[in-house]
Amino acid sequence: MKDRKLQGKKILVTGGAGFLGSHLVDSLLKKGAKVVVLDDLSTGKRSNLNDALKNSRFKFIKGDVNDAKALGLIFKSFRPDYAFQYAAVVGVDRTQKKPLIVLNDLYGIANFFALAKKYGVKKTVFASSSEVYGEPIKMPNREDDPLNPKTTYGVVKAVGEEFVKVYNSIGSPGVALRFFNVYGPRQDASSEGFVVGKFIMQALAGKRPTVFGDGLQTRDFVYVDDNVEAVIRSLMSSKTNGEVINIVRGKPCTIEELAESVVAIVDKNLKPIHVAPRVAGEIRYRHADGSKMKKLINFSPKIELNEGLLKTIEWYRG
Ligand code: UDP
Repeated sequence: MKDRKLQGKKILVTGGAGFLGSHLVDSLLKKGAKVVVLDDLSTGKRSNLNDALKNSRFKFIKGDVNDAKALGLIFKSFRPDYAFQYAAVVGVDRTQKKPLIVLNDLYGIANFFALAKKYGVKKTVFASSSEVYGEPIKMPNREDDPLNPKTTYGVVKAVGEEFVKVYNSIGSPGVALRFFNVYGPRQDASSEGFVVGKFIMQALAGKRPTVFGDGLQTRDFVYVDDNVEAVIRSLMSSKTNGEVINIVRGKPCTIEELAESVVAIVDKNLKPIHVAPRVAGEIRYRHADGSKMKKLINFSPKIELNEGLLKTIEWYRG
């Protein structure tokens, strides 16, 4: 599975101990790259990198991406060919509890792009989010629709996208990817975690999944392997330079349907239970258009929700 174009390439992944970052790291290592991860382990976990840590082409550095000195030293000594900006305060509950702390991530982002330019990084990838759309003004969301972020997290991601475009225009190529609800092994399923893992853990413990509100809110769930493939294709294609791209399946489902799908696999007797709606930070509808992704990187996610849920449930079962 080595990849001629990535073999021996030096790649920095900030936030690489997180759910998304660690899957990306595993894939880059399989393709023969040399990878350095900077992660402060605030939400990321060293155990997410268990496979990577066995690889001689991998190095883990514990530190904060917002620490300009630490990040500068890494760029200076490692001289990455490519760099991924994944580090961020994540999770709806966590970011809602500390909305102003989320803004600190702007320093890290600004610093990351300045360093990438200074050290001649060939291309950057910025992890953006569907949160930039907030409550959609129209649907399905296309990349050039007006943004309507409702959270500081969404605002920071929207600003990050602008950094990508500006730096791209001054000779430092980059792409911003708007991730929609990615799920799969290693995702945080704690009370501050994300819905797929939470429902699975509840069901595996014999508990009824807790659907917030009427359950008719929609999300577009993308299995993590599809996300990683889209990311690497976006890195390798020069067509994506300076672009913002939805990474999406284009097939939203309601949270009620998601809960039904999980219990159908784990235990048919567990009927999902409706609890109070989540108020802060809740977005009602997420539905986006994937045609730009298809056009620029010739990719559409392959893994249907049920198949992805089966794989994820298997992982949580251990
Ligand atoms: N959700 C739910 N029960 C839970 C956790 C989440 O019904 O225990 C719903 C939540 O209200 C939201 C959706 O699942 O509509 C996705 O939530 P998550 O926090 O995973 O991500 P978001 O898309 O909101 O960033």
